[in-house]
Amino acid sequence: MGYMRCPFCGQEIDSEAKKCFFCGSILSEISHHEESKQTPKQHDTSKKELSAGMNKITLILLLGAAFLGMAFLLISHFD
Ligand SMILES: [Zn+2]
Repeated sequence: MGYMRCPFCGQEIDSEAKKCFFCGSILSEISHHEESKQTPKQHDTSKKELSAGMNKITLILLLGAAFLGMAFLLISHFD
């Protein structure tokens, strides 16, 4: 068992997962090179960009929360 990053949205998912939980991309299709199956390219791209943007926002929010938590701990320590 292990984790890998979804090549489509960058979220950490089970390395044995056949489908990404977050963006719903079929991961098993990557190893086989059957791109001409029925992949709506344009739709996929916009979805990927949206997910990447949301990833950044999540990261910033997490960092902000962590920073606030640390500041709060420091302040309460002074008391
Ligand atoms: Zn994904």
